[in-house]
Amino acid sequence: MSHYRAELTGVFGDPVDDNPTGIVEEAAFAAMNLNYRYLTIKVLPEDLETAMSAVRAMNFRGINLTMPHKIRVLPMLDELSEAAGIIGAVNTVINQNGKLIGENTDGKGFTASLLKHGIRIEGANILVLGAGGAARAISVECALAGAGSLSIANRTEGKAEELAALIREKTKVNSAAFGWNPGLKIPENTDILINATSIGLMPDADSKPALDYSTVREDMTVADVVFNPSDTLFLKTAREHGAGTISGIGMLVQQAALNFTLWTGERAPVEVMYDTLKKEFEQ
Ligand code: NDP
Repeated sequence: MSHYRAELTGVFGDPVDDNPTGIVEEAAFAAMNLNYRYLTIKVLPEDLETAMSAVRAMNFRGINLTMPHKIRVLPMLDELSEAAGIIGAVNTVINQNGKLIGENTDGKGFTASLLKHGIRIEGANILVLGAGGAARAISVECALAGAGSLSIANRTEGKAEELAALIREKTKVNSAAFGWNPGLKIPENTDILINATSIGLMPDADSKPALDYSTVREDMTVADVVFNPSDTLFLKTAREHGAGTISGIGMLVQQAALNFTLWTGERAPVEVMYDTLKKEFEQ
């Protein structure tokens, strides 16, 4: 590796100003003494193709994609991982000697965060709230990790039905859409309940998904994708009913750690990355 020429990575998005991944990856590069940079770059939808040509032309090691590019980028890539192919969206590109490979680490970050907390996905009955990008990635990855069943509840029910059908067709895991109303009772056999909607995200921190929280049980694991605030009202309420909770910070860090390894080939300094993000949100 050159002492003078840095290896380039980063993220393309719009809006992207509040994306915290850069400080996490930069802290990891510094901790591992790697001459890498992570650039947070605003790219408009109509400029994505030009920006992806620049990834090739400037020999970026890789790039993250966030809103609104995760689906649009598909035809600009040479290959897709199995999960990215099923999910139909890419958040991480690896530049392998000019070949651009699309991966999706959103769901893998989530499953890694659960495993780090000692939660088993294999055989678990999972209820996912939401059917957007995060819910799709998490549901597919949990199914590939051997979940027993996946129930999907979403405000727009057609999207939940579509996601459940995708899971059944592509992974053979038992999956069904679940009607969502404010009195939603969590089925008794649920092992893991996940908020994969944006409800509770700053500045909407006083909101939580509307459901009958008296049906949260002590032996359930309740997880959130929202990482800002790190301890959401959803998680606080679930804890009041005795459940163990896992915040979206773990998913974000584990996802950044996976990206780090895909780009550098090195093990990620996960604790450094976790501390960096925690400090950032404590300020
Ligand atoms: P999308 O826009 O793709 O999906 C949003 C989802 O939230 C949809 O299911 C939508 O329902 C639902 N939703 C939004 N507002 C409401 C509401 N008021 N009532 C009911 N449902 C609602 O977003 P993403 O899936 O990309 O992102 C979702 C969240 O995940 C964001 O907060 C994002 O920050 C977080 N995230 C966290 C990551 C991490 O590493 N921790 C990684 C990626 C995302 P409908 O279909 O009916 O519109």
